[in-house]
Amino acid sequence: MMNGLAGLCRALMGSFAIPLAQVTAHRKVDVGLTACPGRHFDLDDLRRRIEAG
Ligand SMILES: [Zn+2]
Repeated sequence: MMNGLAGLCRALMGSFAIPLAQVTAHRKVDVGLTACPGRHFDLDDLRRRIEAG
């Protein structure tokens, strides 16, 4: 599932010229308003998977 998400992110990053530093979590945009996507979601792991792809 995480690899699928990494692949989707990679495709969107390519289509819209989004740098890896801009790939973040909802909770980091709406600070204090949401815990989305939850405390078990590992953003660093996602970024590593995107880079590895
Ligand atoms: Zn969200």
